[in-house]
Amino acid sequence: MGYWLQYRQFTEENILGQNKPDIEDLAYWRHKVFTNAIVFFLPVSLVALIPGVWLSLKEGLFFLAFADIVTALSFMIIAFQPHLSLAFRKVLAIAMLYLLAVILLLFLGSFGPGLLYLLTITVFPALIFPVSVAYKSIGLNIVICVVFAFIVHFKLLNSSFTQLYNAESWIAVSSNLICLNVVCVALLDMLVTGLQKTITKEAYLQAQLKEESTKLERLVETLKHKNHELEQFAFITSHDLQEPLRTITTVVGNLEQHYSANPDEMTSVYLGFLSQSAVRMRALITGLLEYSRLGKDKLLEKVDCNKILQECLADLRAYIQENQATITSSSLPELHAYGLELKLLFQNLISNALKFRQKNISPQIRITAVLDNNYWVFSVADNGIGIEERFREKIFIIFHRLHPKAAYEGTGIGLAHCRKIAELHGGKIWVEANPEGGSIFRFKIPNI
Ligand code: ADP
Repeated sequence: MGYWLQYRQFTEENILGQNKPDIEDLAYWRHKVFTNAIVFFLPVSLVALIPGVWLSLKEGLFFLAFADIVTALSFMIIAFQPHLSLAFRKVLAIAMLYLLAVILLLFLGSFGPGLLYLLTITVFPALIFPVSVAYKSIGLNIVICVVFAFIVHFKLLNSSFTQLYNAESWIAVSSNLICLNVVCVALLDMLVTGLQKTITKEAYLQAQLKEESTKLERLVETLKHKNHELEQFAFITSHDLQEPLRTITTVVGNLEQHYSANPDEMTSVYLGFLSQSAVRMRALITGLLEYSRLGKDKLLEKVDCNKILQECLADLRAYIQENQATITSSSLPELHAYGLELKLLFQNLISNALKFRQKNISPQIRITAVLDNNYWVFSVADNGIGIEERFREKIFIIFHRLHPKAAYEGTGIGLAHCRKIAELHGGKIWVEANPEGGSIFRFKIPNI
């Protein structure tokens, strides 16, 4: 570390002592201003001191040389003497400035910077003490100016000061000084009070923000935990339900075999119902199990969506031909995504578009993608039966269906899968009415 830094660190530590840094407290900044003033003033004053003292002695201004030396020594004490309170150091600094001001006024009169010192003495306390102290120093300045007016008027001292002024001109000059004092301190007061208000407000807002974000973090944690619990619950129940279901299916099969030898109409009908229900229950349980597993072993990879779409269309070829559907698409992007899940998402939307077709109108499905604010927004538009506005949110809830299974086969899990997949990618899915009839399912995935 360089000498300057060492000097600076040592002086700051010595002056500030036990005063802990607290940037939200204005007092801390006042201490900091004072410390820095001393840190910089000391070397600068030493540079000025040597020619100052020498020239003062040469000119016979012994009091000035004395004041210079005393002030320099006092500032050294303020900077380097340990175990002094900060308040004492500040008062000593101000007292030295007063000493200099009075001596300069007495011995250099209007040519000296005495008046300037008196002005500084009011501005400096406004920075390093509460502003009320600065107003007191204005009072002291008034007293000093009045005393000097008496000295001049009654010629109480034989100095350059009393020779240069008469009382009237002194009062004219010093009243200007007092006026300047008041203006400076009032402005500083405004500035400091304004700063204090801003600091307090910011501290309050920061505390609130911290509180809110802690609350939010806690809520997110709880939510994650609940979500995990729910997934576990869905997984365990759907997994464990498969076993009794298998038994029911076997027993129903055995009963059907048994009654096929001597058929009884009612029994066959009931067994038929039972068998259908068991098949449906299996479909539901399998769907639930898949839903809870979705994204468990997910793998983020570079995915060409055109390729995924072609694979989906190949898988659905028979279904597409059976419905005489026309499927068109624009060029789709390459993404960093979970390939398997994304394929399932396309597959669900396309097979729904085929399933919920209008009678006597062959399905027309169009798949497109556009880049919007760092998200790829995909659309799957159909000319099917459409979805009433009031159901457009609900259809994404698991097991939520709008039609009896006699009208359209299904379990009500497909769109819940789609939503989970979109959210796994940090995106979302929604549906809109197609202005040309039917629906447009849209989902967006971050472009990463
Ligand atoms: P499922 O297809 O097994 O019924 P989904 O979760 O895929 O379950 O869909 C939920 C419901 O949303 C469907 O039952 C249907 O009413 C409606 N739906 C889904 N896709 C479409 C579509 N393309 N056109 C009209 N309705 C649709």
